[in-house]
Amino acid sequence: MKPTDYTIIRSRRRSLELRLYPDRRIEVRVPMRTSEHDISSFIASKSGWLQRRLSALPESAEKPALKFCHGEGHLFLGERYPLSLNIARRSMTVLSDGCIEMLLPVPDDEQRVALQLSRWYRAQAETLYNRIIDQHFGFFAERGHTRPSLRIRSMKSRWGSLSSRGYINLNAELIKTPLRSIEYVVIHELCHLEHMNHGPGFRRLLSQRLPDWEQRKHELNLSPLI
Ligand SMILES: [Zn+2]
Repeated sequence: MKPTDYTIIRSRRRSLELRLYPDRRIEVRVPMRTSEHDISSFIASKSGWLQRRLSALPESAEKPALKFCHGEGHLFLGERYPLSLNIARRSMTVLSDGCIEMLLPVPDDEQRVALQLSRWYRAQAETLYNRIIDQHFGFFAERGHTRPSLRIRSMKSRWGSLSSRGYINLNAELIKTPLRSIEYVVIHELCHLEHMNHGPGFRRLLSQRLPDWEQRKHELNLSPLI
């Protein structure tokens, strides 16, 4: 791997981490003062892992272009459902009979279908993410925390974050991944109510709230989004 193949991000953190995204971008996250030499040897130590992960990803870095046509498969909670597009005066989208069924006045207008579909994803995400937060918030409420408000965001490189101003930010695309993965991200972010870093205390709490979090994290990193 050439140095140009990855991005180095220096921040106030203690450990080095290599991240591979589904579009094949590679990031190396390191503490502020890490030397180039330490970064290179860290990457070298991860090269076997990285090669295995890269070979598991689809060949092309480019996302296949979606056509938003009748019958095209779209992801929802880790499953792929064909679009069923039908003419109706009033627009509506429902998951039914193994299809994402969309009623709309002009079913062959690609942009219209894309917009209506993204609104449906957003609405599903809002309901589901809030439900998962509520399911897991009890423990944190007992410890005196205030329930953070959900913000659904389009984020390129993170699945979620917790702001100190009382928001839990979750990636809109998560709705395309399995429920197990969404639970992992929500619980991970809620654990930041207690620990604002990823240190041993954080990991202990996360393991206590979600014993198989590492497996879920791994699955999430392998999830397709298109
Ligand atoms: Zn975190």
